[in-house]
Amino acid sequence: MALTIPFDNSYSRLPDRFFTRLDPVPVKEPRLIAFNDALAARLGLDPGTSEEMALAFAGNRPPEGATPLAQAYAGHQFGGFSPQLGDGRANLLGEVLDDQGNRWDIQLKGSGPTPYSRMGDGRAWLGPVLREYVVSEAMHALGIPTSRALAAVTTGEPVYREAGALPGAILTRVAASHIRVGTFQYFAARRDLPGLKALFEYARARHAPEAETPAELLEIVCERQAQLVAQWMAVGFIHGVMNTDNTSISGETIDYGPCAFMDTFHPDTVYSSIDAHGRYAFSSQPNVIVWNMAQLATTLVPLMPDQDAAVEDFTRIVHAMPERIHAHWLGAYGRKIGLADAGADDEALITDLLRRMAGNRADFTNTFRALSDGAPRDQFLDPAAFDAWETGWRARLEAETDPLATMRAANPVYIPRNHRVEQMIQAAVAGDFAPFDRLLNLLSRPFEAQPDASEFTRPPEPSEVVQQTFCG
Ligand code: AMP
Ligand code: MG
Ligand code: MG
Repeated sequence: MALTIPFDNSYSRLPDRFFTRLDPVPVKEPRLIAFNDALAARLGLDPGTSEEMALAFAGNRPPEGATPLAQAYAGHQFGGFSPQLGDGRANLLGEVLDDQGNRWDIQLKGSGPTPYSRMGDGRAWLGPVLREYVVSEAMHALGIPTSRALAAVTTGEPVYREAGALPGAILTRVAASHIRVGTFQYFAARRDLPGLKALFEYARARHAPEAETPAELLEIVCERQAQLVAQWMAVGFIHGVMNTDNTSISGETIDYGPCAFMDTFHPDTVYSSIDAHGRYAFSSQPNVIVWNMAQLATTLVPLMPDQDAAVEDFTRIVHAMPERIHAHWLGAYGRKIGLADAGADDEALITDLLRRMAGNRADFTNTFRALSDGAPRDQFLDPAAFDAWETGWRARLEAETDPLATMRAANPVYIPRNHRVEQMIQAAVAGDFAPFDRLLNLLSRPFEAQPDASEFTRPPEPSEVVQQTFCG
């Protein structure tokens, strides 16, 4: 049986300057190391033999109907604007429609240099490929919008990074699209009004058909991003590189790089080795997303006949964002402490707990889960710090119908802990993919305690702590 992908490639029908058509660069020795059968079935893919899939997902033999291309985009990287970025190591193979008529991009990442590679080699190494595979699938299982992982291959070629020669790999990922804030910035920076209009029409039709105007599209994207970032905050996720080129119009988490889940709770937590000033620290994420939406708003102004009125209108939408994020945050954190519908009066209870957690080096995931299923006070350096909070909390829970169920649906047992991800990567580099399979399996049901898996809830020992995460 041959690998069949029922492509329907709309992006490739956009004007030529949106992308560069080019095939992935073949690799020496493709080997399939992971394939997501469940996702493939949803997308209507017929898997082929593992040899066939290795060739297809390595880019050596793109599946029939693919129209490989590298997308052009721009972006603010750590606040500085680059008018020309683009897929420097990715090829969009095309799109498929799933069983519900939703359109999905199928993209190879690490598939060779493109005209947008700048100084990069166009490649990825096994570590970041497996990290993105596991973390994006975990995010999906946590109920958070995200790109998905469809397949991973090793290339049989070395990739050279600071650490030396590392095994090369390619990830096949699936997303509602890879249209970024930076895609809008690309056309706006060139004052390419026809391009900007074409992009607006395309993005609107694909992601927000109910939007009739740029203002309505902006409002929808702001709402999706507000929800997304609140969901990140509620699981202790730090994206790490919230540049505008890594912020999607669809509202999905995309471009996993030096991302991480917090172990010990602290609002200032940063893991990324390239984030020297903590621009993208855990608690900065809500502010950053507002800033990124302001950049999107700026690109939409030239589409409006009355630009002064547009500036006023768009400013109002962007300025409403902190409140939207806060509302989602309050709802999510309310559920984490058992409140089905937290209100403004509950905020002090939540922030008080967080303050006590930060002061007592409490593990973020385990503390919240212990509220329903354990002994939360043991998570605090000084357990009395929890006791002092508990009384008020218990009193507030009196008004709730089923706080245990609320908490169990909001607080995962398992997250992809950094030290587990690192150990999984090291094993894979040594040829052992069992830890990868185990982690992936466990994280596919993150809210259910599973037998013989308590080891995966354990925070890192001092010797296991991951201080820094790296790009790929
Ligand atoms: P990121 O913020 O990691 O998503 O990437 C920023 C930009 O750098 C994008 O244009 C990427 O395509 C490009 N890039 C990252 N790594 C590489 C690489 N190894 N080779 C070529 N381009 C890269
Ligand atoms: Mg072109
Ligand atoms: Mg990126």
